[in-house]
Amino acid sequence: MVSRVIPVEPFDLVIFGGTGDLARRKILPGLFRRFCDGQMPDGARVIGAARSEMDTAAYRVTVGEAIGEFGGDSAVDCDAVDAFLERVEYQAVDAKGEGGWEALRGLLRDGMVRAFYFSVAPSLFGDIAERLRSFGLADAQSRIVVEKPFGHDLASARSLNATLAQHFDEEQIYRIDHYLGKETVQNLMAVRFGNMLFEPLWNAQFIDHIQITVAETVGVGGRGEYYDKSGAMRDMVQNHLMQLLCLIAMEPPSKFDPDAVRDEKLKVIRALDPIDYHQLVRGQYGPAGDAPGYREDVGDARSRTESFVAMKVHLSNWRWAGTPFYLRTGKKLRARDSEIAVVFKDTPHSIFGPEAGQHRNVLAIRLQPNEGMTLDVTIKEPGPGGMRLIDVPLDMSFADALGPDAEAPDAYERLIMDVIRGNQTLFMRGDEVEAAWAWTDPIIEGWQSRGDVPKPYDPGSSGPEDALMLMHRDGRRWREIKA
Ligand code: NAD
Repeated sequence: MVSRVIPVEPFDLVIFGGTGDLARRKILPGLFRRFCDGQMPDGARVIGAARSEMDTAAYRVTVGEAIGEFGGDSAVDCDAVDAFLERVEYQAVDAKGEGGWEALRGLLRDGMVRAFYFSVAPSLFGDIAERLRSFGLADAQSRIVVEKPFGHDLASARSLNATLAQHFDEEQIYRIDHYLGKETVQNLMAVRFGNMLFEPLWNAQFIDHIQITVAETVGVGGRGEYYDKSGAMRDMVQNHLMQLLCLIAMEPPSKFDPDAVRDEKLKVIRALDPIDYHQLVRGQYGPAGDAPGYREDVGDARSRTESFVAMKVHLSNWRWAGTPFYLRTGKKLRARDSEIAVVFKDTPHSIFGPEAGQHRNVLAIRLQPNEGMTLDVTIKEPGPGGMRLIDVPLDMSFADALGPDAEAPDAYERLIMDVIRGNQTLFMRGDEVEAAWAWTDPIIEGWQSRGDVPKPYDPGSSGPEDALMLMHRDGRRWREIKA
């Protein structure tokens, strides 16, 4: 397949937190894959910057190990680790002090894109932003990339945005939500706005409801301390699920450009109705056999933090009045399965009579695993004996349809390259983040003021019984969570 990827300019990419977990698992292996794909031009360099004192030679060993461990098949296929490592340098810096900053500035070259990736705790964002300016590392062309969480609530998100705005313009700030870097999520926009087929039907007149599920099989793992202060609402809904909701529900932007897209997403968040307490279910996974439950995982026998949440939400606008959106996400569920399902309405009248049964078109957009889309279409069941109808999927698995060469880059790879290209379309703007917190804050405060206790659910299940009831009450059903 001929690559039609837009080339990038040479760049200096500084990764603050270059020795940390995220850098090792995602950012560095992702950059290596882009390098193998010919996406890192001559002169592009990666500079690790972190607290640990080490030299470039030692850092290259660390990066080589990370690529071996997390680089996937490309690390085996692409015999270029040494060539990549020659592009890698290291400088120890103290984000809260003076140490290392002058030396780091000395490593940066003039006349090319400078990007600074903040892969560190959010408490360091302000310190780093300030030092980038005061030590003269950042110029008007520089970009900063910040990781979630963007605050803990509206007040802290505002404060974080204000701190960053003291040193950088909004056009220089790239807030990463890696869900937006997923191939299928972008394909959602291509399907909606690149085809005549769907958009005329994309409204309350033809769509019965939409389900968004992000199910994980893992528990809180080693992130217990962080997660217990956060919960599924802050960790998943406020960012990832709301971003998916925005892309599925937004009006067509006038063009595929950062502000046009983000303006439309913001309107969706602002159109969300305040949520009714009865349309919300919180859950927390219990123990199973020898496997510890949530409370053992986080080391707090009385924790009331949710590891699961399901909700029914409404948008108050012309397009969606009357069409509910059901959202759910949780840990330790039956399978790792993330999808958006657009469930169309019944035909207005069945010419085949009641014996043909009820059939509905469903467009399912799978985010993981096996990114792809299926469209259930109703047809006649083959064979004699009258008109019996069945639903068959028109299946478009991207790997099958486009061939093995079309292996989609990991979300992080794509997003980092977008930073270098200066394309903010797939990054969250400050006002979007604040609007999302403004909607979720009252939900979380409501739980706290009522002393709400999450419903227990069995690991390996689909979540608490109440979540099933949330849809049953409306005469609807969740789609099965399956691998
Ligand atoms: P980590 O604890 O593994 O690494 C932290 C890094 O920060 C290290 O390189 C450390 O040297 C550096 N650091 C700490 N204090 C410093 C100081 N004073 N000066 C200079 N460097 C300092 O953390 P992580 O898991 O890599 O996470 C980094 C950020 O990414 C966090 O904001 C986290 O919330 C976010 N994040 C992580 C993941 C993940 O999968 N790990 C996923 C999403 C978001």
